[in-house]
Amino acid sequence: GDSVFEYVTRAPDIPVYAVMVAYREDPSPFKLNLGIGVYRTEEGKPLLLNVVRKAEKLLVNELSANKEYLPITGLAEFNKLSAKLIFGADSSAILENRVTTVHCLSGSGSLRIGAEFLAKHYHQRIVYMSQPTYANHPNFFVAAGITVKTYRYYDPTTCGLDFQGMLEDLGAASSGAIVLLQTCGHNPTGVDPNLEQWEQIRKLMRLKGLLPFFDCAYQGFVSASLDADAQPVRMFVADGGECLTALSYSKIMGLYAERVGALSIVCKTADVASRVESQLKLIIRPMYSNPPIHGASIVTAILKDREMYGEWITELKAMTDRITSMRQQLYNALQDRAIPGDWSHITKQVGMFSLTGLNAEQVAFLTKEYHIYMSSDGRINLAGLSAKTVPYLADAIHAAVTLN
Ligand code: PLP
Repeated sequence: GDSVFEYVTRAPDIPVYAVMVAYREDPSPFKLNLGIGVYRTEEGKPLLLNVVRKAEKLLVNELSANKEYLPITGLAEFNKLSAKLIFGADSSAILENRVTTVHCLSGSGSLRIGAEFLAKHYHQRIVYMSQPTYANHPNFFVAAGITVKTYRYYDPTTCGLDFQGMLEDLGAASSGAIVLLQTCGHNPTGVDPNLEQWEQIRKLMRLKGLLPFFDCAYQGFVSASLDADAQPVRMFVADGGECLTALSYSKIMGLYAERVGALSIVCKTADVASRVESQLKLIIRPMYSNPPIHGASIVTAILKDREMYGEWITELKAMTDRITSMRQQLYNALQDRAIPGDWSHITKQVGMFSLTGLNAEQVAFLTKEYHIYMSSDGRINLAGLSAKTVPYLADAIHAAVTLN
């Protein structure tokens, strides 16, 4: 007889995965994947950090290690160290016990648990996010029953920040609304506000009682300084107000598949923070009961040991330096070819991504004629490039831009 699932309709492909599959199936030896958001070496290979390898060896040899369940909120030491990483070791919010941090399934899990908490316990069920933003961002909130709205952010004429538009839209936002902010290395634009602009954003949001929710997936990936890159969050915490943060170790430690991250909620008092934590447990318990131990143990081993921490920062810097160098090399190659248009945004933008300004038609041309893959909005992952492939990409962009 018929399947009991006969009436299940086919869901559409998720775009970023569709690009991955198309790339995999392309037999061309010249093919280039600039679509997926992961770091690659100069040889185009995934990178397992040496310090991660070292931490894993230590963990394997540790006699006291076991695989028993963690608490619902995860590895306690990991939570403490993660809060320090983002808020700073001397953060008064931490010292006053006003922060609750729970170990979640990477940045995605932290955003999802945070959204679920807000849907249940916060009075305003509207979230504003940048236009454009990371493709999965709306999903976390829609799934929790929160209405998604946008604020202007990217100015296509400059490939930079539409700061005026952003302030206007936040100024007109429903009072008390949640505002999703990317701490640094904005995905997909590569455009971040500067610290003076952050200060204006902070003042406006506090004045209007808007609730900041920081997504921190690239802390350290812009300047290689964890403190400098976390500055926007710390400005909001320093004023004594409340906020949420979703921290991810996927990119910054290359732990993508280990799913390591932390949700922090900064509250006005220690008493509120402990009640908030008690409710987070009720949200997590029926979803996956408790998080996995391995990835968080790696992170903990690295963060708590001076020497390994130093090694991590060195490797983090090597990653960001390579990305910065790719920006410069691509910009130079575009200049060399005298390609029409202003390409200075390639070096002005920061982090792993650049929104190149290429349109969907030009992207389709790059894929069809040059086997170069990226999302249709023209976002490229600079870490997908190397000295060897930059000239090829520049030639392809030249052809795409001078097509008509
Ligand atoms: N937030 C942003 C801005 C991202 O770019 C990503 C991944 O690409 C994530 C969150 C989620 O990543 P993960 O769940 O691996 O931490």
